[in-house]
Amino acid sequence: MKKENRGNEVTVVGLGYVGLSLAVCLANRGFRVVGCDLDSEKVERINRGKPPIYEPHLKNFLHNSLKKGFRAFASIVPSYINFIAVGTPCDERGKVDLSQVQKASEELGYSITKRNGYSLVVVKSTVPPGTTENVVKRAIETLSGKKFGEEVGLVMNPEFLREGSSIEDTLNPDRVIIGEYDKRSGDTLLKLYRIFYSGKMPQFLRTNIVNAELIKYANNAFLATKVSFINMIANLCQKIPAANVDVVAKGIGMDRRIGKQFLRAGPGWSGSCLPKDTRALKSIFSDAGVESPVLDGAIRMNELQPLKVLELIKTSLGTLKGKRVAVLGLSFKPNTDDVRDSVSIKLIKLLVEKGAEVCAYDPVAIENAKMTVQNQNNVHGRIHFASSVGAALEDADCCVVVTEWEEFGRLDAKDFSRMRNNLVVDTRRILNSSDFDGVKLISVGVGSMDTFAKGEN
Ligand code: NAD
Repeated sequence: MKKENRGNEVTVVGLGYVGLSLAVCLANRGFRVVGCDLDSEKVERINRGKPPIYEPHLKNFLHNSLKKGFRAFASIVPSYINFIAVGTPCDERGKVDLSQVQKASEELGYSITKRNGYSLVVVKSTVPPGTTENVVKRAIETLSGKKFGEEVGLVMNPEFLREGSSIEDTLNPDRVIIGEYDKRSGDTLLKLYRIFYSGKMPQFLRTNIVNAELIKYANNAFLATKVSFINMIANLCQKIPAANVDVVAKGIGMDRRIGKQFLRAGPGWSGSCLPKDTRALKSIFSDAGVESPVLDGAIRMNELQPLKVLELIKTSLGTLKGKRVAVLGLSFKPNTDDVRDSVSIKLIKLLVEKGAEVCAYDPVAIENAKMTVQNQNNVHGRIHFASSVGAALEDADCCVVVTEWEEFGRLDAKDFSRMRNNLVVDTRRILNSSDFDGVKLISVGVGSMDTFAKGEN
């Protein structure tokens, strides 16, 4: 009889930012990988070598993976190890929608009925405490009729990658968290990771499932709190002549107890993870009857931050009625086309509500932004998309730099000379050309002496 040695056979269910990055990284490192996504258009694109999302290196990794035999399917093809990486969106009140997890688990359960031998299920999706056991395990057990511990193993293995560097982060994570149902489950996943990372196994923590679920939420809430904190300091710096939040952040970050990451002040944290995960954690606290004043403060601070940017614009421009505002950047951060919960779109809505016409530009996220705003009557028709920075700036009364795309950092006075008025609000302090003559540059977090050093006050 053939010896069971299927440690390199992997299925990834859900081919979004997390699942596709994981699948192509595993395939590139020699694993036999099958990808599954219920979006058949996405599946077809992937099999044609066309990444459905923008991520640095993803195209090359996908091409290589396809050469090595990686294929995507619109239904679940189970393997020895099965990752669930489907979406877990969350409503305004913080209730996590687990329907994708439920459906994927049911389908996986049904499909593994036909497998002989042991199968491991690994939950990568971010899920509230209790979900892995109560939703995933229950659905798989019911649909497969297999016994956990004997025929099926279970691990909650949260993902910490950052969009914009998802391939790099998948290959070199800070750590691996293994929330195991039993020892065999943990051993099986650890064995896969030891091969995947070869000689460079990251530090790892083995724990129970519920701790792993909580680690992910607590991690994102901590990062969000750190950014909210520096944003609060930025707003103070703004009012103090010669103060500069970047210098303050640098000084704070030199303290090893604090660290320099996530101390970039700006218009507020946004994107597909921090807003939804902080909302979800707030609701988890509330369900548990436990107060969460620090988290509540971080969220509140973040709601105020785009309003602060609006205030800066209004203070200089007066009324926004009939004014044309160029918004540079739509994705929530550079090197991604993800606009989910993007602060840029939030700011655009605020500008439009105040009567402005917005002309927005982004190097890769325009299509996603168009889809996001097309059903929003209050914005639709008042926002136009430009094909270049120059076209966005043409005849603008004000320009707001929202996303830290590298190309925006290279802009100078000549680029802004095509504007009707000369107001530029740099929410990320990336405009670093020495030539800003004739431009009224306001940088978020920079006190007025610096702020107006190159322009009129
Ligand atoms: P995504 O929305 O980009 O992708 C999810 C994919 O799952 C979609 O392609 C969808 O079609 C597919 N899907 C849904 N139901 C399915 C089913 N029943 N069978 C097969 N496919 C199905 O999501 P994402 O951004 O990759 O996030 C996935 C999970 O990872 C979420 O829980 C998220 O919170 C977490 N996470 C995301 C990031 C990130 O930066 N995006 C980082 C860490 C963790």
